[in-house]
Amino acid sequence: MLYEKNSLHNALMVTERCNCNCLMCPQPRVKEEENKTEINLKLISLMDKATKYLGITGGEPTLMGDDLFKIISACKKYLPETALELLTNGIQFENFEYAKKLACLEHPNLTIGIPLYADTDLEHDHIIQTKGFYKTIQGIYNLALFKQKIEIRTVIHRLTYERLPKWAEFIYHNFPFVIHIALMGMETIGLARKNIDRLWIDPYDYISQLEKTVEYLDQRLMNVSIYNLQLCILPRDLWPFARKSISSWKNIYLEECQQCDFHDECGGFFSSSKDKYSKYIHPLRRN
Ligand code: SF4
Repeated sequence: MLYEKNSLHNALMVTERCNCNCLMCPQPRVKEEENKTEINLKLISLMDKATKYLGITGGEPTLMGDDLFKIISACKKYLPETALELLTNGIQFENFEYAKKLACLEHPNLTIGIPLYADTDLEHDHIIQTKGFYKTIQGIYNLALFKQKIEIRTVIHRLTYERLPKWAEFIYHNFPFVIHIALMGMETIGLARKNIDRLWIDPYDYISQLEKTVEYLDQRLMNVSIYNLQLCILPRDLWPFARKSISSWKNIYLEECQQCDFHDECGGFFSSSKDKYSKYIHPLRRN
């Protein structure tokens, strides 16, 4: 991963190990690795203090155990102005003491991004390829007890799109305290590429479910965003929710985009999408 001083998408890869094996994981897990903590601590000490945002990602960062807290403490010390986002499956926070240790760090600007792929254990656990649904839910509640800032995420593909409206109801009823909900188009790399026949659906074909989901959450004053989807396949009423979410180092545009009046507003594509994107992509005109 590259560090770019002015990028809003910098992230630390803290481990490549994981306790899930999600069908669409862009970063397949490894079984063994050298501990990356020392090198990451060094990197944090060298980063520009003006870094606006830093992701902490993996793999599953909580598999580092207490080393994760060393990383977050170092960020607090060397990068006091930087917003941190910890991307975790939340399973480890089922352990009340572990959640408490995180809260005790009192990082002033930490968000914990946790994926929930369905409103049922059957479907969520099928996607993550292990039994994690109830552990993740307990983890979310433990973190909420300690007043941590939580974001819920999902990746939209053939196995998740149909239940999106029910998923939204589930989140609203059970986790009304979350600060953000992210609905993400799929990056077609890693295991997603391997399982592409099971997972791929043209994003255009799930727009009606996406629209219902976003409307439902927005009407209930939940803070909701759409990541990784292009403006030309989204109805205009969804545009205010679309974010330019793809990290600059893997963000591309297609030939069609050169003629598009909304090129600058649109988030474009993952570089891995070169040969796998909606067939409804088309340049837009302002009038
Ligand atoms: S044509 Fe390209 S730049 Fe324009 S909205 Fe579509 S994807 Fe975005």
